[in-house]
Amino acid sequence: TERSLVLVKPDGYRRGLTGEVLRRIEAKGYALTALAVLTPTREQLAAHYAEHEGKPFYEPLLEFMSSGPVAAAVVEGHGCIAGFRSLAGATDPTAAAPGTIRGDLGRDWGTSVQQNIVHGSDSPESAAREIDIWFPGLG
Ligand code: ATP
Repeated sequence: TERSLVLVKPDGYRRGLTGEVLRRIEAKGYALTALAVLTPTREQLAAHYAEHEGKPFYEPLLEFMSSGPVAAAVVEGHGCIAGFRSLAGATDPTAAAPGTIRGDLGRDWGTSVQQNIVHGSDSPESAAREIDIWFPGLG
């Protein structure tokens, strides 16, 4: 079956949304096959966001992502990569549809394009690469 790497980012973790995000994943029928809470290292984040290096939002994004704990999960299930991205909603919470994690739980005062509660892999190749960053050996 397909796998995706999901992160509850520092804003979501800090706001106590980890359980709600995991609940939605399980309610959709996906399995959680690895779970961890950790404060990301600079090395993990540089690897995870390698494609964005050099962009204007790159340094602020790494700063934000290392600002506190994240919850990391390996999610498994048929079509779970697109499925989780559909659960998450649009990258910008102000544009995310009601019923999605970002659409329901995003807040003008607390979230932004940068602080958008969750991350989910965008392809099987990204998932394998990202799983190995957050769960070494599992990717
Ligand atoms: P995600 O994978 O997190 O659901 P995405 O893959 O659609 O979102 P990317 O374009 O890969 O988003 O950007 C990764 C992350 O970088 C975003 O989730 C967001 O936190 C941050 N980001 C992206 N674009 C911007 C921007 N213009 N300003 C600030 N932060 C941004």
